[in-house]
Amino acid sequence: MPTMIPRAEALARIRSEGGDPECLMCAIARGEVGELHAVHEDDDVLVFLPRYVRCWGHVCIMPKAHVTSYASAPIELWSKVSIAGHRVARLVESLERPRRCYLASTGSSAGELTQSSMHLHLHVIPVHDPEDRPASVFSWQEGVFVAERDEWIGLRDRYREAWARM
Ligand SMILES: [Zn+2]
Repeated sequence: MPTMIPRAEALARIRSEGGDPECLMCAIARGEVGELHAVHEDDDVLVFLPRYVRCWGHVCIMPKAHVTSYASAPIELWSKVSIAGHRVARLVESLERPRRCYLASTGSSAGELTQSSMHLHLHVIPVHDPEDRPASVFSWQEGVFVAERDEWIGLRDRYREAWARM
């Protein structure tokens, strides 16, 4: 079963796995911040499982190009990210049966942080607890889930199969 760990421990683990990359998202795409669990990958878009999550089943989508503002993201590129986000949200709804599926582009406004990035990305987050609100879902204050490698591979493969069926 995925295990909840405190925020401070998660941040320490991330630092030990990937150091302090110039761009967290680009480093993830290159597999430099721990093992990359990709659900889908093509020339433009990477769909992957973030390895520290507040809600189990969380998926991220990023454009492979290093873009940090919508002004610098061509509409063709952001459309591909959005279409992938919709596809992921549909598969998460069908597999995880959450009460709600959050779909959001957040990211850091303060440069690269240990757990966030300036590089544009989308989150797809299954929300199961009726008490959950965005402020808690997008915070690590209550801790984050980690899992064993076979659990990540199992989730990735379930999502890959569903992606292929969508
Ligand atoms: Zn980047």
